[in-house]
Amino acid sequence: MMREPGHARVNYVGARVVDVVRSTVLEDAVLVTEGTRVSGFGRRADYPRELPGQVVDCTGATIVPGLFNCHVHLALDGDATPYPIKLPYLRSLAEPDLFAIYAEQARRNLLAGVTTVRDTHPGPGGQTTTYLVLQEALRRGLLVGSRVYLSLRPLVVPGGHGTHWLSRAVSGADETVRAVRENVAEGANLIKLMTAFAWGPLPGKPESWSRYFAPAELRAAVDTAHGHGLPVAAHAHGTKAILDCVAAGVDSIEHGTGLTPELVELMAQRGTFLVPTLASYHNFHRAGPGHGETDARVGDSDYVRRRQREGLELAIRAGVRIAAGTDSGFVYLPHGDVIVDELELYVECGMSPMGALRSATRTAAQLVGVVDELGSLEPGMVADLLVVDGAPDKEITALRAIRRVVKEGRAIEPDAGSPLNAEPLSRNVVRTEMQNTRP
Ligand SMILES: [Zn+2]
Repeated sequence: MMREPGHARVNYVGARVVDVVRSTVLEDAVLVTEGTRVSGFGRRADYPRELPGQVVDCTGATIVPGLFNCHVHLALDGDATPYPIKLPYLRSLAEPDLFAIYAEQARRNLLAGVTTVRDTHPGPGGQTTTYLVLQEALRRGLLVGSRVYLSLRPLVVPGGHGTHWLSRAVSGADETVRAVRENVAEGANLIKLMTAFAWGPLPGKPESWSRYFAPAELRAAVDTAHGHGLPVAAHAHGTKAILDCVAAGVDSIEHGTGLTPELVELMAQRGTFLVPTLASYHNFHRAGPGHGETDARVGDSDYVRRRQREGLELAIRAGVRIAAGTDSGFVYLPHGDVIVDELELYVECGMSPMGALRSATRTAAQLVGVVDELGSLEPGMVADLLVVDGAPDKEITALRAIRRVVKEGRAIEPDAGSPLNAEPLSRNVVRTEMQNTRP
C-alpha cells in the first residue's frame, strides 16, 4: 500500500473542531495536518483563502480526535457464539488463523473511529508473540487497523478468573514480581491483574465476593510495573477488592462493580482511573434472552449492570478520571461502534457529551501514557481524527455518523479490507460447528 509523502498537507475546512484540552468547540474552523501530524487548527478567517495542499470540505461536520477503547479483547469477535463452543475452537487454531482474527477486530475498531485500543487479555490459546507481530504490523502500516497496546498475560491466582486463558498464575509477592518482569521482558505495554471473580459480586454466590490477591501481592505488582514505567489495570469487582487495588496504587479499576461514595472519593483523590465497561452487561442483558441465555444469567447481568451504573454515577459526581472502555469481544459485544454505546451510557449516567468525548480521547490517552502524542488535536500531535456529521459534543450519538476516519494523517477507506481477507473466519467456522454440536 502506498504511503502518502511525509510532507503532504491536508486542510479540513469549515468544520467545527472539538478541543478536548480546553473543552471548547471552534466553529467554522480549519484544521491542518502535515504528514502524520496535526500542524494546527484555528478560525477560518485567520487562514488565507487559498490554502496549499489538499482541501477537504467539512461543512456541517465536526472533527474530534480519534477514539480510544481502553478495554478490548482482540481474540474474541463479540458474536453470540457461546463460550463452551468458541473457546475450544480458538484453542484449536494455528497462529496464522488467530492472527487473522485479531487483525480483523483491529480493523473493525478502526473503521468505527477507534484509532487506539488497549487489549487487556489475550485469548484462550495461541502465543503472545502473535499479538506482538500484530502490533508491529499495525505500527508499520502493513495492516489497516487500530493502534494496539497490549497487556499480554494477566496475573491471576491459581484457579481464579483467567486461569484457563493465557495468563500467569502467581502466589506471593516474589512470584508476582517475577510474573510482572516476564511480561515486561515479553513486551507488555501495561500489566493486567485479575483481582476478582469474572462477573462481579452477585447475590447468593459467595465465591463471587472473593478478593484474589493479598495487599502485599498487589503492591509488589504495582511497584514492579511502575518501576518499568508501565501502568497497572485491575479487573476488580466488589468494594473490598477495589479498595485493596486503589490502596496499592493501581492505575485503573476495570469494570468496578460495587463502588461506594467513600471509594470514589478515594479514587478521585489518588487519581485512579475507572474504565467502566458498562456496555458489556447492558448488551448482555438486552441480547441474552434472544440467544437462549438462562434466566439466572440474564438476572445476574441485570444485577451487575445496575450496580455498575450506580457506581459510575457516583464516580462522575466525585470527579473520578473516567477512561472509556467496553470489554469488546465479550459475548454480544462486537468490536467497533460499541464504543458509542458505552459513551451514550456515560451520558445517561450524568456525564456531559463533552465529558464523554474526553473520556474516549484525552483521559484515555492519559491512562495509556501517550497524552503527549495522542488524544487531542494540539499542534504536533499524531493526526488521528474523525470527521462526523452533526455535533457529538451536544449529541454523543453523532459519533456514529462518520464521514472520514484519519489515522496518522491518512484517510482510511470506508471499505478498507484486511489484506489477509480475514473476513469472518471465526464466524463461519464457529457457526458451522454450532450447528453440528447443538442437539
Ligand atoms: Zn475484559
